[in-house]
Amino acid sequence: MLKPKLILIFVTFILSGYTALAQEKSLFVKGTVDISVTKGTIACDFVLSDFPEIKDYVIRINSGMNIHYFKDIKRSNAALDYDVDTKDSIQSDEVKSYYVHENRGNPARYLPEELEVKYLGMYPVIKDSLSGWMGGDWRGNVAFNGYSVRAEGYQSDWYPVIYDMKTRKRYPEVRYNVKITCSDCKVLFVNGSKPVKAGQATFVSDIPHELSIYCGSFNTAEQNGVWLLNSDMTKTDEQRFFNMANSYEAYYGKQMAIPFKGSLTFVQTDPVADPKQWAFAFFSAPTTFNVGSGEWGMKSLFNSSNSAKNKKSMAHELAHYYFGTLVQPGSEFGMVIEEGLAEYMALRLTRSLEGEDAFETLLKERISTLENFRNYKPFAEVNTEADYCNREYYLYYYAPTLFTAIEKEIGEKAMWQWLRTMAQSENKHADYNFMVDAFKNTVTDPSLQEKIIGKYFRSASALQSAEDELGIH
Ligand SMILES: [Zn+2]
Repeated sequence: MLKPKLILIFVTFILSGYTALAQEKSLFVKGTVDISVTKGTIACDFVLSDFPEIKDYVIRINSGMNIHYFKDIKRSNAALDYDVDTKDSIQSDEVKSYYVHENRGNPARYLPEELEVKYLGMYPVIKDSLSGWMGGDWRGNVAFNGYSVRAEGYQSDWYPVIYDMKTRKRYPEVRYNVKITCSDCKVLFVNGSKPVKAGQATFVSDIPHELSIYCGSFNTAEQNGVWLLNSDMTKTDEQRFFNMANSYEAYYGKQMAIPFKGSLTFVQTDPVADPKQWAFAFFSAPTTFNVGSGEWGMKSLFNSSNSAKNKKSMAHELAHYYFGTLVQPGSEFGMVIEEGLAEYMALRLTRSLEGEDAFETLLKERISTLENFRNYKPFAEVNTEADYCNREYYLYYYAPTLFTAIEKEIGEKAMWQWLRTMAQSENKHADYNFMVDAFKNTVTDPSLQEKIIGKYFRSASALQSAEDELGIH
């Protein structure tokens, strides 16, 4: 048997990309969460410590949560005064942004060494169309669908998420020691840990993760550390799925020279809004959530007419481990890096693993969608969301088409090297210059460098050039 110390060294070695994050001392969240999936309630009692050094902080908490109190537990048992900061620049109606006071006459923002926050939330429980759908469902929704609850940390902030108003940086990834109780659940899952088949369990992680949860009554399946929650797949499809996940993971790991961290989990869940025409998926590393029913559910992954698209979506979400998790946006253009490159990687993976036909269909579909796409700025001039003209077209269609054309010009090898350079830097403020610097480090031939930058990054006719290069119009 390996001695604990040796195991640690081994783990540190294979997860070397992650130790830097862990050493930064991410926020530590300790406490209890009591859930009822049939009543739609979440009661939390957390103690936060190891705060990042921030002066202009706010603590973002989902607006459906009612604050019981904030306490400086090292000092006294008295509740602290607090305010809501309405100037939080990324505030949406999903969250409220709190800051607390010292209660000693000083009006400044105060952060004790250990801050207790206790609160209680109650949400609608949407079982089916008979109970009446919600107007919409989205990533940041705290969603109770009658048999489960789904809540994530990037938008919903169901747990306290620190936000630095000055640098506009949020800290959704936390280390945790959280005891969950849920008397009407059969399975409890906290992102970054393995699912537990019980109504009560304590989840502990020293590696920071977005504290997303999926708890309720549903089936589970596992193979080689890859988990499927609530998939409802046949055994044959389950096996196909595990094979696919393993091959996608291995493909990215090899091309990027950075292996996937932790055990991958795939959550399938029914939306709380009318699910006939749509579905959505999101990645909360290392977990992929698929929110959809019927032909959009994970069950239909291999048999619906959307199979190629569904697989590509899965590949897109997995690519967010590199762009979205290791590399995070620090400007509006950072979204082109996060979404555009994740989509490019998904197309590239499709081409390598699912075949040229599947790839070409997806690429042609992208180019035909862009037929009437106008009034957008080239990469080099993107400063605000308005510069995309249409955000979805720009990030998921335009950008990956350009990246695919660039790959054709510089070669697949150089393309992966460029992506690898970016991912290995683990830059958390990625912007246009970051992408260009990494490009110049990869493609060192000055004339090729200038050609690509001029043609695809700076030119207003970049899309036309890409179509010419790819031979698709
Ligand atoms: Zn994405």
